[in-house]
Amino acid sequence: MSTPPTLPFTQKKPRKLADLTACVKTYNPNADTQLIEKAYRFSEEVHKNQKRSSGESYFHHPIEVAFIIAELELDTVSVATALLHDTVEDTVATLEQIEKEFGLEIATLVDGVTKISQISFQTSEEKQAENFRKMVFAMAKDLRVILVKLADRTHNMRTLQHLKPDKQARIAQETLDIYAPLANRLGLSAMKRELEDLSLRYTKPEIYYKLVAQVSKKLKERDQYTQDVLAMIEGALHEHGYNNATVTGRPKHFYSIHKKMEKRNLAYDQVYDLTGFRVVLETVEQCYGVLGLIHSLWTPVPGRFKDYIAIPKANFYQSLHTTVVGPGGEKIEIQIRTKEMHDTAERGIAAHWAYKEEKSLSQETSKFSWLNRLVEWNKDLQDPNEFLETVKLDLFSEDVYIFTPKGKVIEFPQGATPLDFAYTIHTDLGHHCIGAKVNGRMVPLKYKLKSGDTVEVLTSPNQTPNKDWLKLVKTSRAKSKIRQFIKVQEHENSKVLGEMILEKELKKEDLRFKTLLKEGLFEPAIEAFSLRSIEDLLSAIGYGKLSVRKVIGKIPLPAKENSPEAKEARETKETKRPLQKIVEEASKKSTTRQVVKVKGIEDLLVHFARCCSPVPGDSVIGFITRGRGISVHTRKCPKIFDSDPHRLIDIEWDMTTPSERAVKIRVICEDRPGLLADMSGVIKDQEANITRAQIGTTKDKKAVCLFSISIKNLNHLSKIISALEGVPGVLRVERVQKKQQ
Ligand code: MN
Repeated sequence: MSTPPTLPFTQKKPRKLADLTACVKTYNPNADTQLIEKAYRFSEEVHKNQKRSSGESYFHHPIEVAFIIAELELDTVSVATALLHDTVEDTVATLEQIEKEFGLEIATLVDGVTKISQISFQTSEEKQAENFRKMVFAMAKDLRVILVKLADRTHNMRTLQHLKPDKQARIAQETLDIYAPLANRLGLSAMKRELEDLSLRYTKPEIYYKLVAQVSKKLKERDQYTQDVLAMIEGALHEHGYNNATVTGRPKHFYSIHKKMEKRNLAYDQVYDLTGFRVVLETVEQCYGVLGLIHSLWTPVPGRFKDYIAIPKANFYQSLHTTVVGPGGEKIEIQIRTKEMHDTAERGIAAHWAYKEEKSLSQETSKFSWLNRLVEWNKDLQDPNEFLETVKLDLFSEDVYIFTPKGKVIEFPQGATPLDFAYTIHTDLGHHCIGAKVNGRMVPLKYKLKSGDTVEVLTSPNQTPNKDWLKLVKTSRAKSKIRQFIKVQEHENSKVLGEMILEKELKKEDLRFKTLLKEGLFEPAIEAFSLRSIEDLLSAIGYGKLSVRKVIGKIPLPAKENSPEAKEARETKETKRPLQKIVEEASKKSTTRQVVKVKGIEDLLVHFARCCSPVPGDSVIGFITRGRGISVHTRKCPKIFDSDPHRLIDIEWDMTTPSERAVKIRVICEDRPGLLADMSGVIKDQEANITRAQIGTTKDKKAVCLFSISIKNLNHLSKIISALEGVPGVLRVERVQKKQQ
């Protein structure tokens, strides 16, 4: 279907001057209609030979824009500006002429609208930021500029069907990116909804028309339900003496249904609260009273009640929101507010402007604190980059809008972190992200992004995702990418470990893994444990889910190798050697196949033993734990001598990877003033970080300082120790390793 019957915003027949002045008179009986008439005639004259793409007279456009302004109940100057908004850009008329005819105020406004119209948000990314800045400043000077521009855009969107598809998509996207959020931020929610629906129609026509069809199909059914709910609310209100209430039920706009379906991955039939109910009352007390009434009528859904009366939104929006389990178990959302709040909700800042008081909209700006700040900044216009670094554009309240270093704007849910940002740009950027620079300053991964932040991702080739990252990210894209990585990684690591464990165990039987694999002797074991492949079997061993002895028990071992002689020979071999020797031999053998390297960053399946806190450069050995991967110990660690030698594996530091490890050092020194400062100075000179310091004294009046420091490697540690030994008053420096004190 090309034009569904319920298509909104259908063309009205051309409206004339009399209609416009009548419209203005409804809200402003003393309006200066002469000014409007003069602007009307002027615009009609200069646009007279122009046609729009639709074929109709161009002048039709400024009239309709003026109507949108009048519907917002703005002053006559704004209405005149709307009529004149395209004259300087598109006709022979000049700004001087406008100023001569209509005065400086209108000329300035027309100039502002013309300038905004020349801003393209579709140019290169670098320019986007600069253009956005221009618009914000134009707006901060006089809000009427942006209101006329929004009205202009609204009418252009209403008549977009006359343009070529590529132009339609471009303009609609720009509307969705810039103008709809702006309308929202200014509290013009009716305009915002219209802009969003129209944008959806041209950016995602398939989705839009499908939704329109689905909505109209269900319309009758929905209508009945809506009527039922309305009747119940009205009945209850009446019964409790709320006689001046207005109750309405309105279908949600297409874009919000689409967003909901997309966000929660729902089909249309799964979206329930398709109708928004609203109760408009006289006083705030009545609002809370009706809230209680509705909660006694239907059960409220926990966590869905929001009190925007007590805490208004940044765009002045005030209302009570609640979701209840309505008739038929369907969730319904109800908004409760006063008439005044309702007016603000629909017309936003325009509702706050009182033409009667002859107060200008530029004064009204002061009510918007965020605009106020922008006006302040406007005083010393800096270069655009500096602007982006300092200005926190909280123009958009619900989501955060983040700038790429090139000035592109990306939208994120609140609470998003640099990781979300990195994954949005590219999966690899996310996987290797170690932090970010926000507005030029280093921030940790857990930093919560704020609107206006410019984010630059910092990466390291050695960085990889880990499970903790899942707690840091907000976007589903980042979550799924991290999960995917961990899954593959765990499987891979476990496989390697599993093979090592199995190989080692098989050696005791003088068997070789590869030979058995070739002969297909693992098949019975794979089957016995209901696994799919040898990879899964190895992974299960490596991850500690399966014991290696159980697996070997399922292998049909060749008879000769299982003979009593062989067994005895093995036993002699095993028991007669001292444990330490086994460890040494095992490590010598395996140096040729250093499959597992210990990287600077803690891998999922590798962790450092706390008993001996190995640092890069220490001679280390790995112990294969059950299900917790490899724990890394120093070869001197006494715990290693107590361990099952068959679970020890040789590992080596990957010294190419810069890393930091924490160690503890103890310094015995004289108790003299300033010594602590001297020592920490020495440590800092060696470019090591002190993470903790503890000071005590001994009986013989000596000081004992315990430092936790992060160091690069053993060599680094030695340098620090000898530097400390050089400090006057220091008697002894030692590395602290538990059980070796
Ligand atoms: Mn226009």
